[in-house]
Amino acid sequence: MNAIVVGSGPGGATVAKELSGKGIDVTLIEKGPKIAEKAAFKCYANVGSVVNILRTICLGGTTTVSAGNGVRALEKELSVFGIDLSSEFEAAEKELGVKPLPDSHFGEATKRIMAAAEKLGFVVNKMPKFIDPAKCKRCSKCASGCPNDAKWSAAEFVTEAEKNGAQIITEMPVDEILVKNGEVAGVRCGSKILSADVVVLSAGALETPQLLKRLGLPTTPSMFVDTFTTIGGVLDGIQQNKEIVMNAVIQFNEFVLYPHFSNHLLKRMEERGLNVSPDDILGLMVKIKDEAVGEVNETVEKGITNRDAVLLSEGASVAGAILAEAGADPSTFVATPLRGAHPGGTARIGAAVDKNMATEVNGLYVADASVLPATPGAPPILTIVALAKYVSTIILARN
Ligand SMILES: Cc1cc2nc3c(=O)[nH]c(=O)nc-3n(C[C@H](O)[C@H](O)[C@H](O)COP(=O)(O)OP(=O)(O)OC[C@H]3O[C@@H](n4cnc5c(N)ncnc54)[C@H](O)[C@@H]3O)c2cc1C
Repeated sequence: MNAIVVGSGPGGATVAKELSGKGIDVTLIEKGPKIAEKAAFKCYANVGSVVNILRTICLGGTTTVSAGNGVRALEKELSVFGIDLSSEFEAAEKELGVKPLPDSHFGEATKRIMAAAEKLGFVVNKMPKFIDPAKCKRCSKCASGCPNDAKWSAAEFVTEAEKNGAQIITEMPVDEILVKNGEVAGVRCGSKILSADVVVLSAGALETPQLLKRLGLPTTPSMFVDTFTTIGGVLDGIQQNKEIVMNAVIQFNEFVLYPHFSNHLLKRMEERGLNVSPDDILGLMVKIKDEAVGEVNETVEKGITNRDAVLLSEGASVAGAILAEAGADPSTFVATPLRGAHPGGTARIGAAVDKNMATEVNGLYVADASVLPATPGAPPILTIVALAKYVSTIILARN
């Protein structure tokens, strides 16, 4: 059996590693370039919409700019389809080295926010991270690409796959999936044809549905993105901009708050006529379980619903109370534009793919955020890695 994997984010890189590790002939095809992790910020290819959608196009996919947050998500929703990822989660947590960072890696801003939230009666936890504290220099550059190789990214699994004998091709977008007599036959990249017995689509929630649509296969017009805004105010000399981002989590039912500095706060303060240094801003991200009203057609549309606006308002009120308690000046509070960093749900389990992540075409599978059955409202990488391990086992059973 030989397999082609399309895309090298958490889904594609995991499948490539797992299959090649069991002796399968794997070719991984990635649209973006191979980069030094610290240069990942150059590969942002955000998609404009009412809610701006963030992602990167490079080897390792969007994991290269992640905050390193590793949590289990959607366990209940997946169990409805008879999918139990307990052993896959356990393996993924071990391989990625998921655990909260030691106290030495918590800055003054995060500590103040945690103390203020606790004082107001909210439940505060340290964020589990796939960051090696021994290598982490606490530079705050996670979302630009780690300069110290302290944070796991899917590029590590690609390297393992290559060591297992997989062929890695970069800067080559897959344009079309080839099908013969109801069975997958390979892929077309420009004028180049590559044959395969199995093809796994892991091109992300914005690109995988395009490839499925070109085959006339079903997709799901119900994209979520975990819409977020960051609320911030002035606190002289706090230097949150020099801390590890999102190192704590304040969990509510339908939204979550994370300590977070954003340059957009500075811009918004300037628009308000405030002359502030980035060292003097304290911020909290409000991230909601948004309604899945996004669509991927020739263009990508993702707006917000009335309910989303209610959740964002509720989250912003709580964030404001915590920031004020932590010492930020309420007269300076601003919010960033709406963004989303977790696009998914565009080829859902139970609709576009079955519980084995298989499409209607024999040998064609999906393993990325597209298949997630509901808005996670939580970091999805660990769940995508676990699902990719699960689908790899299913593919190996074909051999
Ligand atoms: C700034 C930021 C911080 C984040 N932090 C976290 C975090 O801390 N924890 C967490 O769990 N999640 C985080 N996320 C979200 C997480 O990165 C994504 O949910 C996840 O990477 C999605 O995985 P994916 O495989 O679906 O897509 P991607 O990671 O986007 O991978 C898709 C890959 O396919 C490639 N591709 C696309 N089209 C083609 C084609 N036609 N042919 C070949 N290749 C193609 C792309 O170049 C890309 O490499 C963050 C996201 C952002 C933007």
